[in-house]
Amino acid sequence: MVRVRLQGVTKRFGSVVAVECVDIEIERGEFYFLLGPSGCGKTTLLRTVAGFYRPEHGRVFFDDRDVTGVPPEKRNTGMVFQNYALWPHMTVWQNVEYGLSLRDIAPRKRADRIRRALQMVRMEGYRDRSPNQLSGGQQQRVALARALVIEPDVVLLDEPLSNLDARLRLEMREQIQALHQSLGITMIYVTHDQKEALAMASRVAVMQAGRVVQSGSPRTLYSKPANRFVADFIGEINLISGKVVLIDENIGVKTGVGVLYGGPGYDGIRRGDRVLCAIRPEAMEFHAGSPGEADHVVAGTVRNAIFLGEMEQYVVDLSDGTQVKLLESHPRVRSAFPGDRVSIRFARDSISILRDEGENSA
Ligand code: ATP
Repeated sequence: MVRVRLQGVTKRFGSVVAVECVDIEIERGEFYFLLGPSGCGKTTLLRTVAGFYRPEHGRVFFDDRDVTGVPPEKRNTGMVFQNYALWPHMTVWQNVEYGLSLRDIAPRKRADRIRRALQMVRMEGYRDRSPNQLSGGQQQRVALARALVIEPDVVLLDEPLSNLDARLRLEMREQIQALHQSLGITMIYVTHDQKEALAMASRVAVMQAGRVVQSGSPRTLYSKPANRFVADFIGEINLISGKVVLIDENIGVKTGVGVLYGGPGYDGIRRGDRVLCAIRPEAMEFHAGSPGEADHVVAGTVRNAIFLGEMEQYVVDLSDGTQVKLLESHPRVRSAFPGDRVSIRFARDSISILRDEGENSA
């Protein structure tokens, strides 16, 4: 397993800048995710790590080895694709063996390796089947075995679960995670599915228009998004806009529903700046009685209420017209109905202050 380092990587296709000046450091054994919307450059970055693309600028390192100019077959990376890319005319065994075709390995050792790889993905009982006799999940497990059979230093996965149905995706998530834990191998995983990234990653790089806009643990990205794009992309978020009126140990923002206070630690935000107070729906709750000192309470009217099984979701119009979502878990009974006047409470430390740069800006 290796540490993977990208330094100032830029990759263009003609006039399209697919990846721009990306710096990333992935530790040995990390399960690192590249997350972002379609076309943001995730696959291009992954293929640059694999060696299929050579960047115009920047360098790629495996540990301290500069591999920027090293061809893919000399990098010892295993790749798993969205469409499995299995050979239809070959059996499961032969497909996995194909992964070893460019390597000079004695036949007995070769058979041992294939057996071991198939065991890892629990497909040893299917060795003589052809891919069209397998389910999507089983095909993806064979593709994984083919990537693992070379005993790679790093495994690269490009949207490996997106062809599977929702239940199978959840099952495969767990299996890939367990595999990562037992092998301890460095893995880089591309997805546009934020839930997949939050559930599986040790760290995530969120990409937008070829750039990494924030990287960190799933918890950090969720609780302290760096900007509106990340806040919107990862989970749902309520945004109340306002203007900074106070900066001391806290930050005070004058909004249409009163002055809201966020915690300290916002670099570069000044008095008078337009900002957004970002609060997750599950951090808001209905409230009766007097608020605690560390809380805000705002008034509104329930627009609608939807039963989601494990959650009840409410949409509430605040007095200034801002719409917010509120989630209650384990709903036994509905606690408010459309048209009800309600008070909503949220803790001061549940607010992230984001610079207001307009819709979807980075
Ligand atoms: P998706 O989730 O849809 O696969 P992505 O985030 O992986 O998207 P990339 O496939 O890396 O995005 O594409 C990034 C940008 O580069 C896009 O604008 C895409 O059209 C462009 N691009 C990618 N590959 C090529 C290519 N071979 N030739 C020209 N343009 C390309």
